[in-house]
Amino acid sequence: MSAPVRKYITYNDVHKMCQASAPQILEDFQPNLLIAIGGGGYVPARILRSFLKKTGSPNIPIQAIGLSLYETLETAPGSPEEVPGTKVTRTQWLDFTSLSNTNLLGKNILIVDEVDDTRTTLQYAVQELVKDVMEQAVKAGKPELAKETKFGIFVLHNKDKQKNGVLPEEMFTEKRYIAAETIGDEWCCYPWEAIDIDEHDRLAAEARAAAKQ
Ligand code: 5GP
Repeated sequence: MSAPVRKYITYNDVHKMCQASAPQILEDFQPNLLIAIGGGGYVPARILRSFLKKTGSPNIPIQAIGLSLYETLETAPGSPEEVPGTKVTRTQWLDFTSLSNTNLLGKNILIVDEVDDTRTTLQYAVQELVKDVMEQAVKAGKPELAKETKFGIFVLHNKDKQKNGVLPEEMFTEKRYIAAETIGDEWCCYPWEAIDIDEHDRLAAEARAAAKQ
């Protein structure tokens, strides 16, 4: 099996991708809650929040859910690529008993992850959160409120490939699916996974220089 093409992404890249995407997110969706999918969605969600903040308004709250699809199975010693598992495992979910921030009803909720690869994880997240919204609406005695809750998605990278997961069509038609970059089927090496960040940045700079030639 040949090694996939690797794309090295620096912290600066992530920061600038969030910055560049924020105006479109504000224009098309205006989220009032971010749900980061851990662990890859945490850093982008936090950076994005800074660019979504409007002067005089409070910060948009960030909640976290933990989902795991990939199993660490190295393709070669020391290589960063992982192979997908078949089942999404919940490692963390929202706590509806405590904070008012976890009241999802009537909100525009932006789900943030680092990469949309097979789409399995995003499909699972949306399906489960939609179920939670229905339950909350029924509990509140206002099932009609479920329809007023909208989900959007922000990812740093969307891989342009055959997807296993499916997302509601309106997410695309209503521009609630936003990818900072659409790429081929490459393996993205994110800075927070790097063991040697200087070497990681060097490889990113080398690739950038080669692309300019
Ligand atoms: P999906 O469910 O879309 O196949 O995969 C989602 C998860 O797989 C991501 O949140 C991420 O953890 C992992 N993943 C998929 N492709 C990549 C990649 O190119 N680089 C890294 N670092 N993780 C990936």
